[in-house]
Amino acid sequence: MAKLYFNYSTMNAGKSTVLLQASHNYRENNMDTYLLTARIDDRAGTGRIASRIGIAAEADMFDAQDDLYAQITTRLAQSGVAAIFVDEAQFLTPEQVWQLARVVDDLRVPVLCYGLRVDFQGNLFPGSATLLALADEMREVRTICHCGKKATMVIRQTPDGHTITTGDQVQIGGNESYISLCRKHWREAMGDLSAES
Ligand SMILES: [Zn+2]
Repeated sequence: MAKLYFNYSTMNAGKSTVLLQASHNYRENNMDTYLLTARIDDRAGTGRIASRIGIAAEADMFDAQDDLYAQITTRLAQSGVAAIFVDEAQFLTPEQVWQLARVVDDLRVPVLCYGLRVDFQGNLFPGSATLLALADEMREVRTICHCGKKATMVIRQTPDGHTITTGDQVQIGGNESYISLCRKHWREAMGDLSAES
């Protein structure tokens, strides 16, 4: 039975690597896959999903305005697809998550979404919040903090190591870097350890 999956993580956990490996497993068995990624993220170049360890695959892109149910219906009319993979799923709108749920329920094709759970201020991305509500199955792609504990949070830093505590949820293409931390070290970096005194 087809399901809607949400594989969530913090930054630098290797979720694109996991996505590309899972898609490869289908293709190795002669089952085609359809890959989608957010247009907002063009780090990998136009229409590509790339992982930090060097593997990449072609992908179609989505904008916030796109009707993904219609887009996927068009793709399925061309040839059969065994599974649909969506990277940067935190950038889906709630409406688009519902469209993907309809693909699963009505077209009976599994949809596997990969995305960040929370932003640098500790708030759920809207797409991720809706996926947490609607997904049939959820799995955490894990990475660790410098202390060895599981990292669940992320901070945004300037090139000189200053932690940014305010600003837009989405900022891609700037000079900032992202560091994944456990909640305690995230609180320390964000200047909130008052609860400990
Ligand atoms: Zn830590």
